This record gives sequence, structure tokens and C-alpha cells, in this order.
Amino acid sequence: MRFTAPLAVAAGLSFAACAQDRPASARHEPSISITAAAPASTAPRQRRSPASYNAVATSRPFVALTFDDGPHPVLTPQLLDILRNEGVRATFYVIGRNVQTYPEIARRIVAEGHEIANHTWSHPTLTAISAARLDKEMTSTTEIIQRVTGRRPTNMRPPYGAVNERVRQSMFNDHGLDVIMWSVDPLDWRRPGAEVVRQRLVDGAKPGGILLAHDIHPGTIEAMPGTIRDLKAKGFGFATVSQLLALQDSPAAPPAPAGQEQAAVIRSE
Ligand SMILES: [Zn+2]
Repeated sequence: MRFTAPLAVAAGLSFAACAQDRPASARHEPSISITAAAPASTAPRQRRSPASYNAVATSRPFVALTFDDGPHPVLTPQLLDILRNEGVRATFYVIGRNVQTYPEIARRIVAEGHEIANHTWSHPTLTAISAARLDKEMTSTTEIIQRVTGRRPTNMRPPYGAVNERVRQSMFNDHGLDVIMWSVDPLDWRRPGAEVVRQRLVDGAKPGGILLAHDIHPGTIEAMPGTIRDLKAKGFGFATVSQLLALQDSPAAPPAPAGQEQAAVIRSE
């Protein structure tokens, strides 16, 4: 739930001066530098109860860009090129069977400093499947991510945002995963056009925000250079989800109350 300062140290993170520490004229986006080879995802965690997040309570001007449903053979590499050019780290909620098909792209995600996390093996509605299948969906995905990339995910996103207490308890007790929802949904799966996706993401961004997108839609990829530029111009820096969790203000605001993060939209993909 709450991350203590030692966790950030253990995770090998150091936080560069944030925007407030700089003259307004500097116009540099805040940055987080990873100073150790050890990935944040392997740090020991202080966990007391199931946690799910729509956003992270922080006053620091960071957002997390998140991309679901890949790796995609064409679009994910294009996105990685954009993120590399912009010097931005993101979080990828990958589907296990796609990692099996495109392991080299999963490896590139990790090699370029992004976080990789669990979005199930085959994208079922977790609230509608048996406990046995739920376990298999999560375990098989964590295993292939770990086998292919060497990283063990520490959080997950439920397909369609469908989560209930049973799922949350299972994620926490059986899989050691935080449940990560989002604070901004540009509805990019409806393919409204790159300009609309960019506008929705930029308008919705707040400190600690978790921005949802899908790296399986061309318009989403097309939207990214402008989205990133606009967010930087508004003073935002970019963190992975694990980095954002480590920026949580202390004392931490509690995660969203049970039920609040029920799926607000039904997504078809
Ligand atoms: Zn999805």
C-alpha cells in the first residue's frame, strides 16, 4: 500500500531535483534517474493489505504513461523509438501470449528502461472466470515475462478494468501484485484520431496520474510525440508505475475504496 523511503533506496532510484526546485525559466521537465542496475521490480515490498490504484497521491509533478495489450509486432517498436527519442520511461501491461510470440520486443521494453507488468495471458474478464483459471492467467504471464526478460512484475492491470474483492485478494495474496487502474482514459480503443487522444491525455493529466493507452492502435502511437511534448510543456515528468508509487506522499492517502475502481467502461478490443 504505502512505500517507505527505504524502499525507494532499495529500488535503486534517485530523484533528481523536481520542477519546483528550479527557476521557472529553466523549463526542464522533472526527471527520475535509475542509478542502479537492479530493477525496481525486484525490491522487497512492504505490503499490508490488497492495494489498487487509480492514481498515486503525490505532489510531485510526475505522471505514468501506460500501454496495454502488446507487444504488437509493428506498433510497439514504433512506440519504443518515440519514447527513446523523447527520453521517456513508460509501463507496458503486456499480454502473456503476445510475449510468447514476440519475446524480442518484450526484451527491448526492459532493455530500454521501461517497466513491464502483467495484463493476463489471454485478456479475460477476471471477475467472470474461475479461481483456477485466474491463477493460471496470472502465473503463466508472470512466468513468461520473467523467463523472457529476467524481470518479475510487481503489479498488474485487469483487462477491461474489471476487478472485485475476490480478484484483488487473489492478486495480493496469491500473486503479490498491486492492481493498477488509471486516472485518465482517452478511449483510444475507439480510434477517435490521434489529435483527440493527445488532447484527452494532456487535459486529464495531474500529478500522480496514471494515463491509459494501448500500443495496438496506430492513432495512439501517432498521438505520442505531441502528447509527450505537451505534457513536458505543462511541467510534467514521466515515471514508471513503480517509480510513481515510490513517490507517494507520506502519510499516504489510502488507495481507492473497494468498489470505486469497478470498471467504468466496458472496452471491446
Ligand atoms: Zn487490455
